[in-house]
Amino acid sequence: MKRLYTLLLTLGLLLALSLTASGAGNGVRIFIDGTPLDAPASYISGSGTTMVPLRAVAEALGCTVAWDPVTATISISSPAPETSVPDGAPLVVLDPGHGGVYNGAEYSGVKEKDLNLAIAARTAELLEEEGVTVRMTRTSDQDVDLYARSGLANTLGADLFVSVHCNANVEHDDALGIYTCAYSEGTEGWQLAQTLHETMLEATGAADFGMEERPNLSVLRTAQVPAALVECGFMSTPSELALLVQPEYQAKLARGIADGILACLAQ
Ligand SMILES: [Zn+2]
Repeated sequence: MKRLYTLLLTLGLLLALSLTASGAGNGVRIFIDGTPLDAPASYISGSGTTMVPLRAVAEALGCTVAWDPVTATISISSPAPETSVPDGAPLVVLDPGHGGVYNGAEYSGVKEKDLNLAIAARTAELLEEEGVTVRMTRTSDQDVDLYARSGLANTLGADLFVSVHCNANVEHDDALGIYTCAYSEGTEGWQLAQTLHETMLEATGAADFGMEERPNLSVLRTAQVPAALVECGFMSTPSELALLVQPEYQAKLARGIADGILACLAQ
């Protein structure tokens, strides 16, 4: 969210600096950095307020705009300099779930955010060894807005987006295994989730907790690139938590995630 505020502040400054709108009949002409913007109807309301379409302005400034009708949220992602990527190489965005004040699940003093980051970072290493460019939504224990996570993949035009989590079941302390999900069946995201499911099971020998459509998960709903979310195992099940904290087991999970991503990239 901080990022969005920063961007809006930047937008505000840019608008103040270089946006000039002048009346032309009932419409308003917009110039950005001196170039006329071919924007859909801008107008001046009865109260004298000038209305300018946010999408047209944001996109003219190089931002990516996503609209989430479910929560009536507009997310604008700015192309930050550190996110520029080399041309040609396949590009994957990995999203270690939670972070900062958001621990995710927490069992026996183990925080999900830390497991997610360890597994995702290992996955990134494996992918980079194979010549894949990887960008992470976070590389440390920091809070990242949900919309900024998919927003990074959207802004970069990533080939794939994978969100990495660990599961918990408050009712059953014996739930086990790998679970993957995507926005809906029949999408490229679903194919990605399916492939990840198979490669993660193969790499870990873990139990199969199945797959599911998750249209309500905002990182999946707002991703404009093929996106999947993986749950690496149940922190609420002591025997599986004992595995999840081991670097050796995290490496197996990472191998499984990397193999699934590589298989999808090769298609
Ligand atoms: Zn989670």
